[in-house]
Amino acid sequence: MKALVYLGPGKKALQERPKPVLGAATDAIVRITKTTICGTDLHILKGDVPSCEPGRILGHEGVGIIDQVGPAVTTFRPGQPVLISCISSCGICVYCRRLMYSHCLTGGWILGNRIDGTQAEFARIPYADTSLYLIPEGADEEALVMLSDVLPTGFECGVLNGRVQPGSTVAIVGAGPIGLAALLTAQFFSPAEIIMVDVDSERLVIATRFGATAVINSAGSDALEAIMKRTDGRGVDTAIEAVGIPQTFELCEKVLAPGGVLANVGVHGTKVDLHLESLWDRNITITTRLVDTVSTPMLLNTVRSRKLDAKRLVTHRFRLDRIHDAYEAFAHAADTRALKVIIEA
Ligand SMILES: [Zn+2]
Ligand SMILES: [Zn+2]
Repeated sequence: MKALVYLGPGKKALQERPKPVLGAATDAIVRITKTTICGTDLHILKGDVPSCEPGRILGHEGVGIIDQVGPAVTTFRPGQPVLISCISSCGICVYCRRLMYSHCLTGGWILGNRIDGTQAEFARIPYADTSLYLIPEGADEEALVMLSDVLPTGFECGVLNGRVQPGSTVAIVGAGPIGLAALLTAQFFSPAEIIMVDVDSERLVIATRFGATAVINSAGSDALEAIMKRTDGRGVDTAIEAVGIPQTFELCEKVLAPGGVLANVGVHGTKVDLHLESLWDRNITITTRLVDTVSTPMLLNTVRSRKLDAKRLVTHRFRLDRIHDAYEAFAHAADTRALKVIIEA
């Protein structure tokens, strides 16, 4: 089968690989029909993710058709269409029982990281019963690819952790796919204001189209001043950090109203200052989280009932044999206007 293989920092190749075989009794083999590229894949290619070793097939998102199941898989049978969660969960360890699937003792984020992933014609999915979701009849496959990672991440790490409420004020710093996913799913709770901050004016145009009530280009203006002005000097109830650099985290610290929640989503590579000298008396909460994908069944329902238009995040489409072009388009999003790219296997 064809598969995109990580070959060390800066190197990847589309290679011919043997089709995966069942390992544990709880495994399934899925024939991938659609997959996508995540910002995390770019981090791996930079060499930022040491757990992902050269030789690994990349990718942790996608949909497909069940090809084979191990003898202990009870929920699925060959031929069924399934959504693959970016998080594999055994369902029975101490963390899975606390619904922290991302910290599953023998699973978590392993696909396209510690084990071969989904940017291939077939993938072996561990713990199939608790890591795959049956795709309802008539559902749009491209929309569902957005449920593997980007939408649950924006929703769980940003919106749920940020305690977005009816009538509240929200600032989302970073209008990339994850920030936009938070913007789309924050609207489940009808906040009064969703202020979107980014340095890319084109992405802010998209944010307005997706429901932002105000947009601020932090490259051309003082975002702190603009948010304070917009909120009558109070700041916001929820600040969602969806970039992962010190400047954006510190902006979120500064724009919090008393009682506010700073929900971190960004992947941070360097230390950030915590300004307790100005925050100690302001009743604030700071949250961090890796996506657990516990909201996936709920999000599936909202996509199926058209309450959530997940497909709006899809901008580009490629065949698997042109996956290098897909990476180029995704990595140079400022020029290509790419949000999520669909790769058809
Ligand atoms: Zn991802
Ligand atoms: Zn577990």
